[in-house]
Amino acid sequence: MFRAPMAYAGDLSQAEFDELLDRRGGPAVVVHGGAGTRVDADPTPYFEGTRRAAEAGLRVLLGGGSALDAAQAAAIVLEDDPHFNAGTGAALTSNGDVELDASCMDGTTLRAGAVACVKNLKNPILAARRVCDDTPHVLMCGPGAEAFARESGIAEIPNSALITPRQRARWQELHEQAQREGADSVRRKLGTIGAVAVDGRGHVAAATSTGGTMYKRPGRVGDTPIIGAGTYADDHEAAASSTGLGEAILKVSMARAACVRVRDGASPRSAAVAAVGLLRERAQGEGGIIIAGPDGRLGWAYNTPRMSRAVIRAGMNSAKAAV
Ligand code: ASP
Repeated sequence: MFRAPMAYAGDLSQAEFDELLDRRGGPAVVVHGGAGTRVDADPTPYFEGTRRAAEAGLRVLLGGGSALDAAQAAAIVLEDDPHFNAGTGAALTSNGDVELDASCMDGTTLRAGAVACVKNLKNPILAARRVCDDTPHVLMCGPGAEAFARESGIAEIPNSALITPRQRARWQELHEQAQREGADSVRRKLGTIGAVAVDGRGHVAAATSTGGTMYKRPGRVGDTPIIGAGTYADDHEAAASSTGLGEAILKVSMARAACVRVRDGASPRSAAVAAVGLLRERAQGEGGIIIAGPDGRLGWAYNTPRMSRAVIRAGMNSAKAAV
């Protein structure tokens, strides 16, 4: 069953957040900074990063951009923020380098795009968007995806430029532990970023981006670039972005499972709780999810100690964050 979080710090009380999430009418944006936020970490950068991302997304919507443009804008802010496990600051593989996955989906057209195992892109969400807009494909991986990104004019950067001193130090710790206890003992540490957006006309979209689980095997791909697991959006259902143990999220197609519940009448908030319950009960997984419904109601839930997240609606001066 869904477990109550063991730690909570927020701009609003949980009851105030519930009221804000349950309101109807877009535009609105929800973001997450991953379900792996450490309980002992200073929450300040997570508050600031998720607020900035949600606000960037809402600016796009208020400026007439689409829900997909808004989700992408929010994702870029979090990819560029070294505190989050995506883009710059991503977790390292057991080889000590970075492999990134990202995906996005537009709920109006069901257009979707994703990249997996890319090593040289500062913003893999931009490459996912190009796959979505410019190709007949949904998912591209590895060197082929990188070549496509290059052809699309997306700037490449060296893998080493994505690695922060903090992630290098964590890799060193995990590497030493892996040598003592085996690599599988250290591979479950989490982190990802995601955004969902709804405009004023009931169009929804989602974007998700990650460095994956820490110390993952090179070539390992989790839920993040998989449509239906890490990301899903359909104006007839809802938009969702997942975070948590990818191997478990994949088994229950968590993002789609949540969206289907909204289609069938659940509020996004209860659909989020149900999806995380499914993750726990059927796949023994830990993680979280954010949801935006076409009527503007929003939801989030998680069963890890912390999930950094923020929400903003039209009419609010600033996003409200919690961790
Ligand atoms: N879902 C991501 C993965 O398994 C990691 C995370 O969200 O923490 O790659």
